[in-house]
Amino acid sequence: MNYPDWIWHNGQIKPWAEATTHVMSHALHYGSSVFEGIRSYDTPNGPAIFRLTDHNKRLYASARIYDMPMPYSLDEINAACREVLKKNGLGVAYLRPFAYRGLGGFGLSADTPVDMSVAAWKMGAYLGEGVLENGIDACVSSWQRFAPNTIPAGAKAGGNYLSGQLVAREARRLGFGEGIALASTGLLSEGAGENLFLVFNGELHTTPISAALLNGITRNTIMTLAQKADIKVVERDIPREYLYLCDELFMCGTAAEITPIRSVDGRVIGEGVAGPVTRQMQKLFFGLFDGSTPDEHGWLEYV
Ligand code: PMP
Repeated sequence: MNYPDWIWHNGQIKPWAEATTHVMSHALHYGSSVFEGIRSYDTPNGPAIFRLTDHNKRLYASARIYDMPMPYSLDEINAACREVLKKNGLGVAYLRPFAYRGLGGFGLSADTPVDMSVAAWKMGAYLGEGVLENGIDACVSSWQRFAPNTIPAGAKAGGNYLSGQLVAREARRLGFGEGIALASTGLLSEGAGENLFLVFNGELHTTPISAALLNGITRNTIMTLAQKADIKVVERDIPREYLYLCDELFMCGTAAEITPIRSVDGRVIGEGVAGPVTRQMQKLFFGLFDGSTPDEHGWLEYV
């Protein structure tokens, strides 16, 4: 990873090496952090952060779920995101605002103070070079996602990503590009760090938020763009075997953007290449950044 020079930490821009935390930080021991992943893109009107406010609203929602008092306001964190990009001279980047219980007080119910930070760095395609065009081979994980009312899937919290690590590392170990998890119901949930869309007869089908998944902002973007393009979107419970039967399949997320899936568990999907609906959704999505898709919702928040 190519670290940039500056990072925002507890209200100040600091040299990267100085933004440290104590080994006894609560979050290190108990996973008590909440975070976001946001991308910025170069657009014809200059660098813009994609859905910055929506992402940071979700950051505050994640903190609310864990009853974690946030020491800075949403506006302050939005401003910090812009400041970190500017100070590092970054245009196309990945931003990581986060909050975590730091040092002071110990034990699970301690009111350990919350620290906040915003980092940003250059990042290419998350699942590897060329995957946006060529797609990946995926597998269904032997690990399920958390059951309802155990660990809340709707929060983007550090501890949740123990599940994602099991799913993703198993997939890589077996030679796949990414893993797909089932919910505790046995029905389809989502990828290790991505939501899923299946295409049947030109319609987009995606799993519902009750299927132990993170309510993705890219997922919402795709649903909104599809509806505008008269592509029907269906949110429904999907049994595993429909992964093998769909015409097209893709993963989506801030990091993964829209990554086609060419096979699951060795079954080739469609023609084994990105299908027409997947390509249309990629065109509409990436068109937001070159101006070919109108930004009707104010999603581009300029730096
Ligand atoms: N699910 C999980 C588990 C994720 O980590 C992510 C990435 N944040 C997503 C889905 C996609 O969410 P988004 O589109 O908001 O990045």
